[in-house]
Order: sequence, then C-alpha cells, then structure tokens
Amino acid sequence: MPPPKHTASTTDSPQRHRWCHWHKGPSETAVLVDAVERNSAPPIALYACAPCREQRGLIPLADRP
Ligand SMILES: [Zn+2]
Repeated sequence: MPPPKHTASTTDSPQRHRWCHWHKGPSETAVLVDAVERNSAPPIALYACAPCREQRGLIPLADRP
C-alpha cells in the first residue's frame, strides 16, 4: 500500500466526509443515529445528516440519555 499523499490541507480527520444513509449521499453534518443489529455479524452503523434528522425525527445516539 503506498503511503498517503501529503496535501496542502493539514486536516487529518477521517470523519470529515461522512455518509448519510437516509438520502444516500455524503454529508458533513451526518452523525451516528442508529445501529442495526445483525445475527452473527457486527451491527451496521447508520448515519443521518441534519436535514434528514429533522425530517425523520432522528435523534443522534450521542444526544440520547
Ligand atoms: Zn441526509
């Protein structure tokens, strides 16, 4: 595997471009809202962006009690 290329950007956040599973596109506002449990497999993490969370009434896992 080649080493990562250095760019002008110093940001090294893997979470910069997340995926919204509701509108099925990349979103910088997407946060983890749910995880689907599967039998004999790790749960699937579901991310939703701010507009989708508002439309569907989704609550980020981090904001839950
Ligand atoms: Zn979305």
